Amino acid sequence: MKITIVYDNCTAKAGLRTGWGFAAFLQTDNAAPLLFDTGADGATLLYNMRKLGVDPRQIGIIVISHAHGDHTGGLPDVLEINKHAEIYVPASTIARLPGRKVIRVSQPIQISEAVFSTGELKGIEQSLAIKTSKGILVVAGCSHPGVGTILDAASCYGKVYGIIGGLHGFRDFNRFEGLSVICPCHCTQYKSELRRLFPEQYVACGAGRELGLL
Ligand SMILES: [Zn+2]
Ligand SMILES: [Zn+2]
Repeated sequence: MKITIVYDNCTAKAGLRTGWGFAAFLQTDNAAPLLFDTGADGATLLYNMRKLGVDPRQIGIIVISHAHGDHTGGLPDVLEINKHAEIYVPASTIARLPGRKVIRVSQPIQISEAVFSTGELKGIEQSLAIKTSKGILVVAGCSHPGVGTILDAASCYGKVYGIIGGLHGFRDFNRFEGLSVICPCHCTQYKSELRRLFPEQYVACGAGRELGLL
């Protein structure tokens, strides 16, 4: 299993484009490739995917964390190319996607063999919980419900060992104690504090960053 950041405010690999927003591509055994969020701009998303060797036609599952433009803006361009992916959106999302299989998520659900949704939290956002041999890796879009709320929800699938994604203004830093991977992306306001407090666990995010998951 592998997760690759394909859209972020920063880059982790030369030659990729940046933009305000977030998207991650997840490859797991025994399940279709999954795109989590789509960034703000389709051209940037597709450009980075091409550079990273990700074919948008392969995507079988698209999960949208929440309905803000910096996470949904690239969706029309992806759907233009990919006609078959199932789309998981938080239940409160009102946008219509005629002719597409759209699953509106409210409660925690299983998406594929190793991938689960926390369910829509605080009426705005869902995060992923990926089961690995080390425990649960959480993938968050913007963390509007609060990182603590997301970690608690993901814990129903097992012990959380890491988090990657936008962590917004969350600063209850002791909630990160015990994690072995902390990869703050996109809208995270306290990256430098997290790097200072958790130098061993900190992984710099950016488009092109890959994390292998076992
Ligand atoms: Zn947002
Ligand atoms: Zn955002």
